[in-house]
Amino acid sequence: MIVEPKVRGFICTTAHPAGCRENVKRQIKYVQNAGKTDGPKRVLVIGSSTGYGLASRIAATYACDAKTIGVMFEKEAVAVKNRTATPGWYNTKAFEEIALTDGYYAKSVNGDAFSNDIKAETISLIKEDLGQVDMVIYSLASPRRTAPDGITYTSTLKTIDCDFTNKSLNLRNNEVGEATIHPANEEEISSTIKVMGGEDWLLWIDALKKADVMAEHAVTIAYSYIGPELTYPVYYNGTIGMAKKHLYDTSIAIEQKYPDTKAYISVNKALVTQSSAAIPIVPLYIAIMYKVMKMENVHEGCIEQMTRMFHEKLSDNIAVDEMNRIRLDDWEMRSDIQSKIMEYWDQVNTDNLHEMADIDGYWVDFYHMFGFKFNNVNYKADVEV
Ligand code: NAD
Repeated sequence: MIVEPKVRGFICTTAHPAGCRENVKRQIKYVQNAGKTDGPKRVLVIGSSTGYGLASRIAATYACDAKTIGVMFEKEAVAVKNRTATPGWYNTKAFEEIALTDGYYAKSVNGDAFSNDIKAETISLIKEDLGQVDMVIYSLASPRRTAPDGITYTSTLKTIDCDFTNKSLNLRNNEVGEATIHPANEEEISSTIKVMGGEDWLLWIDALKKADVMAEHAVTIAYSYIGPELTYPVYYNGTIGMAKKHLYDTSIAIEQKYPDTKAYISVNKALVTQSSAAIPIVPLYIAIMYKVMKMENVHEGCIEQMTRMFHEKLSDNIAVDEMNRIRLDDWEMRSDIQSKIMEYWDQVNTDNLHEMADIDGYWVDFYHMFGFKFNNVNYKADVEV
């Protein structure tokens, strides 16, 4: 089948198998070039197929020589309907094949990580193949969660107390307009915390501990974002921010409950992923931030961030801020970077978008996520989906 991108707003409904493989290969190459570092040898990544989780898995494997088990929720292709698999499905297939060829153990569990069944299946696999894990990375991003009580909760991206209006990029036509985000009600706030907060992270750690598959002194890390004051109403002080505060509190709760375990929040840089594209206002901020960080030679993607995490933040003493958080957003939040971003933010409009923002870079990253627009992939060729 010839696979072409079908983009609807912030989502692409097709994925290219050869392009996704290329994406994985490039990430592996980056980590190999960065060299080895000491680190965990048996790693469980929950949310391992795209974005930060995939990059964590690749970095753990190729920088630390770790054996990895990944948990993801991805769909296979449906040939009769001409439907490709999801990018995470192709990424994982490619990663497992390449890792195996390179002599690394890599297996994945595909299913709902929020469920008890998938937790049990993952624990059996750890017991059989690895015995225990030294590190658990929690990198889930999901719009909904069915909790053990059987109720399905949906997350929303809203403010907490009042309307918030600011510039926004219309991803359908690259026009800069305005978006207004309305406040969430109590139920929407608590549902978002149920989905993106730390409840499920703790359930995973409880289950792993109970089954004795977490090694003594194991480390667990969950990912978060803070960002600049500009996006506070929609992110840090919005519904998603409330969930991230709960995630942070959970890191403290895990350490209290299991004193031999270290639980960290790593605050990562904002990047184009399937999750961040869905947040209003944030994509324009990201496009301007890409422009400024590339100008200053400090731009990173997921793989650069995760390689830096293993090399610089997790080696020997774990480098943390005053709240015990790992800060990979340190370069994004540098005052010179932020003041330039704010200068551009004030000036940006549809006419000067290409001057003020790296809109091409934004879209290249977007298409790459789905395996498109790699210059060395032949998109005219028939591929097996
Ligand atoms: P992503 O959408 O690229 O990846 C999400 C992963 O979760 C995928 O592997 C997917 O298969 C998996 N997943 C989703 N629902 C699942 C389920 N029910 N069961 C099993 N697996 C499931 O997202 P991302 O942007 O890499 O985000 C990962 C984490 O990093 C999130 O906590 C996010 O808030 C955080 N983060 C993201 C950014 C950013 O700008 N993208 C910045 C800082 C922190």
